[in-house]
Amino acid sequence: MTSNFSSTVAGLPRIGAKRELKFALEGYWDGSIEGRALAQTARQLVNTASDSVSGLDSVPFAGRSYYDAMLDTAAVLGVLPARFDEIADHENDGLPLWIDRYFAAARGTEKLPAQAMTKWFDTNYHYLVPELSADTRFVLNASSLLQDLHCQQVRGINARPVLVGPLTFLSLARTVDGSDPLDHLPTLFAVYERLLKSIDAEWVQLDEPALVADVAPEVLAQVRAGYGTLAARGGVFVNTYFGSGDQAVHTLAGIGLGAIGVDLVTHGVTELAAWKGEELLVAGIVDGRNIWRTDLCAALASLKRLAARGPIAVSTSCSLLHVPYSLDAENIDPEVREWLAFGSEKITEVKLLADALAGDIDAAAFDAASIAIASRRTSPRTKPTTQELPGRSRGSFDTRVALQEKALELPALPTTTIGSFPQTPSIRAARAQLRKGSITLEQYEAAMREEIDLVITKQEELGLDVLVHGEPERNDMVQYFSELLDGFLSTANGWVQSYGSRCVRPPVLFGNVSRPAPMTVKWFQYAQSLTQKHVKGMLTGPVTILAWSFVRDDQPLATTADQVALALRDEISDLIDAGAQIIQVDEPAIRELLPLRDVDKHAYLQWSVDAFRLATAGAPDDVQIHTHMCYSEFNEVISSVIALDADVTTIEAARSDMNVLSALKSSGFELGVGPGVWDIHSPRVPSAQEVSGLLDAALRSVSPRQLWVNPDCGLKTRGWPEVEAALKVLVSAAHQARAHLAASI
Ligand code: GLN
Ligand code: ZN
Repeated sequence: MTSNFSSTVAGLPRIGAKRELKFALEGYWDGSIEGRALAQTARQLVNTASDSVSGLDSVPFAGRSYYDAMLDTAAVLGVLPARFDEIADHENDGLPLWIDRYFAAARGTEKLPAQAMTKWFDTNYHYLVPELSADTRFVLNASSLLQDLHCQQVRGINARPVLVGPLTFLSLARTVDGSDPLDHLPTLFAVYERLLKSIDAEWVQLDEPALVADVAPEVLAQVRAGYGTLAARGGVFVNTYFGSGDQAVHTLAGIGLGAIGVDLVTHGVTELAAWKGEELLVAGIVDGRNIWRTDLCAALASLKRLAARGPIAVSTSCSLLHVPYSLDAENIDPEVREWLAFGSEKITEVKLLADALAGDIDAAAFDAASIAIASRRTSPRTKPTTQELPGRSRGSFDTRVALQEKALELPALPTTTIGSFPQTPSIRAARAQLRKGSITLEQYEAAMREEIDLVITKQEELGLDVLVHGEPERNDMVQYFSELLDGFLSTANGWVQSYGSRCVRPPVLFGNVSRPAPMTVKWFQYAQSLTQKHVKGMLTGPVTILAWSFVRDDQPLATTADQVALALRDEISDLIDAGAQIIQVDEPAIRELLPLRDVDKHAYLQWSVDAFRLATAGAPDDVQIHTHMCYSEFNEVISSVIALDADVTTIEAARSDMNVLSALKSSGFELGVGPGVWDIHSPRVPSAQEVSGLLDAALRSVSPRQLWVNPDCGLKTRGWPEVEAALKVLVSAAHQARAHLAASI
């Protein structure tokens, strides 16, 4: 018999509070540290993670993770893609024997492409997409995990191994032969049955966030049957997150599972009517994904209502992977600090709630939480704003086209780039020096102007038609704008793993957003002063700014997005006053925030499109508005892209064989469009034939009047040699296509 636990968290971050894993991984990859040292760091991080929750009575345990949890599960299931089989076992130095194949799958090798990587549900974390086929065989390989588990048990830790569950694993997999990954579901349940039996731990957690999305009824029936078999082991805890747990509970209740976990934050405390108290309900009441302090009194009241119906444990709504480690490492505005809870503060909240539920209330802590909640609610910085909003519409597209043609005098098939040029070591060095105080702001800005000189000169030499200033002053675009807008704060150490060794430090959008001063105008002005050609004003859109920040949860996202939009609208107006005739507002994240369930999509697309339009509709009809998006799965959002009403949209296309074109064609897209003809994600320089071929393909789907010629995305991660070579190819292909067009008229 397993005994119920009363407090836990859904999962813990793996990168280390000081990004220890990042530095160890990068050291190992560049050969500056040995495998033994990497293994040692990873082991220590598992210990530290366990110790950080030692006050709770069940400890999630993921083993040593060297890159990503989906990839870890793929390794345990023995389904790293077969092309890596040629890589031999690793020598026995403390790293798993499969580690070289694992890193090859994560990062690729010179000869072998990596597995695809994409965003984990609607978060900014990226996972490695399992590659399967109809004849994939699962070959269990859990020895490394079991060894690590044993180490924790020897340390006296009640460790609860966490794996990705069968449904989620297959739902997120792709096949190389067009078969349906879910065909493997019954087999995979049988594999998990053996796996769970081999794990000597009281509890095992299987994560099934896929159960909060839309799942076909016949698949749900298979899931219920599969978990019914697994349940016989005892101590099986199926956890769900990122949405309401109702469907999961409906599917999984009453089949003998030990525990079912639900997210009570994303859609609030839902009814969970199917839960009859037969299983432990692991109540994710502390937000695992955002950084706001929990209203302990309100949470306790909800928990008590649930506890009246059956056994419950207090937990976080999802893994703490998505939030920074601790506020201790921060020196931030004291008023706002009181409103926040990072990872370690959330662990304390879980403990306080579990104790209170057991009758042991820490009155001082509950009072402090109430005071902080009230201070946040009543602060002038969060006070609802009630200003009348200006319009969200511009003149008709035809009117705009006519006016812009006259104002801009661009050739057919104009060439341009997406905004950034290489972020060279010297740019990064200048930024680091400014931070350290070893150069003055004036010196830093002079260095940036020199970069702009270079970027403009190169673009002139290459013969591009519409120029950019190159964004040298931005390392991360959302961070850049958040530092210049009121209502945001940045953290010093609030690192969150994005993928592998890569971390980001999302800004905190805590209050009303406004723009104290112009943000980009001086850079634009400087760049424009250097050339007769048009330089694009370059901004980041409201949805992307929200998507890559921790956002306030005390008002609808739509309201916050509109506030950001108004600030951008003022910036656009200032750019126009400074002479900008073309302004680009990037929205790479519109698709990324798309809700998991179909029923929620419409409302989301409505407000996200509205915010973009609010930002851009102040531009007079002769000013050309561009937008840029970084993905090619266009079909789902094409009507929203049309509704954005940007004069020109540049999108990713080269990597996906231009399959965006069919969506453009079938939707009757009439606005300007630049499907990227150079895949900048690879260092390879495309050949002239390739680019011409892509342009010909584009011209079969859209009219010559609509078409722009540009790369897929910004160039900041590329080096100058390949940028120059590729842009040369791109410009000459455009010139050639232009000549053909002229000849055919
Ligand atoms: N203008 C940005 C750049 O070129 C766009 C980046 C993005 O789409 N992610 O870097
Ligand atoms: Zn992009």
